[in-house]
Amino acid sequence: MVVAGSYVEIDRRRCDLCGACVAVCAPLALRIEGEMLAYDADACTACGDCLITCPVEALTAGE
Ligand code: SF4
Ligand code: SF4
Repeated sequence: MVVAGSYVEIDRRRCDLCGACVAVCAPLALRIEGEMLAYDADACTACGDCLITCPVEALTAGE
């Protein structure tokens, strides 16, 4: 779930569920659940690794 004020924002129209961001997220803040990329803002350390990993630029830094 993406909540207001969370670090990572997901553009679900771009995301094709490739899993690359899930693989680089050490604290397991990203995971694929069914047909959706799930994000846990509480677990996210705002390292930014997923942002530069996504091949289709579906992830951006929020506020
Ligand atoms: S910013 Fe870092 S900790 Fe947060 S979701 Fe992306 S890879 Fe995981
Ligand atoms: S790396 Fe990008 S396209 Fe792949 S699952 Fe993550 S957000 Fe979606």
